[in-house]
Parts: sequence; structure tokens; C-alpha cells
Amino acid sequence: MIEIVDSDRCIGCDICVKACPRDVFDSGDNGIAVIARKSDCQTCFLCELYCPVDALYVSPYAELDDEVDKEQLTAQNLLGSYTRHMGWHQGKMGGTDKDPTRQLRILNRARQDNANLNPM
Ligand code: SF4
Ligand code: SF4
Repeated sequence: MIEIVDSDRCIGCDICVKACPRDVFDSGDNGIAVIARKSDCQTCFLCELYCPVDALYVSPYAELDDEVDKEQLTAQNLLGSYTRHMGWHQGKMGGTDKDPTRQLRILNRARQDNANLNPM
């Protein structure tokens, strides 16, 4: 369940407000996101995934209030950690560059380009 919006990190981009399929967030003062309907959270992690500045923490415990501490989570680098586990991060390549299917497509394309340049 969503537990934390770090107002020190939040840049008020509204992405989580728009991305949340359960309309859990409101845009608060200065655009800072606020958790308005916590019990509607379905623990899908989309907000944490899309937040560009790692200002959110979704606890994997879907059914209970996880009494987390922001300072402790920050010290453990856990804010936005789901995003990093998925290979997403601002300014960083996504995980698709390591996807073997994509690598095969690149290899096939290179072979085709080579065949076109050197027809038999
Ligand atoms: S985890 Fe999913 S449902 Fe919960 S607040 Fe984030 S986007 Fe909304
Ligand atoms: S996505 Fe992150 S930075 Fe943007 S409003 Fe939500 S918490 Fe703030």
C-alpha cells in the first residue's frame, strides 16, 4: 500500500496523480502530491514506477498499514527502489537493453542490413 510521498523530493509533476488507476492522490499545496484515499490503493506500484524523482514509497504489504519511517527508508535508499529494480530510472537506460529478444532483433536487423549491402 502507498505509504509515503516525500514532500522534500516531490516536484509537483502530477504524474502519480494521473497514473494511479485508483485515484489515490490529490494535487495539494504547490502541486505536491498528497495521499488522499489511501485505502483505495491496490499496491500496483505504478506511482512509484513513474515518479521521476523517487519521492514515493509503496509497501509490498497490501492489506495493512506498514508503519514505515521516511528517514529510515531514505537512509536505506528504498524510496523509488521498485523503479530501480524494474530497470527504470531518470536518465538511465531501461531494462529493455538487456532483453534477449531485443538483442536477437538487433542481430537479425544487422544480418539483413549486411545482406542488403552485399547481395549474392
Ligand atoms: S500503488 Fe497503484 S493504486 Fe496505490 S497509490 Fe500507487 S498507483 Fe495508486
Ligand atoms: S510523481 Fe513524484 S514528483 Fe510527481 S507529483 Fe507524484 S510524488 Fe511528486
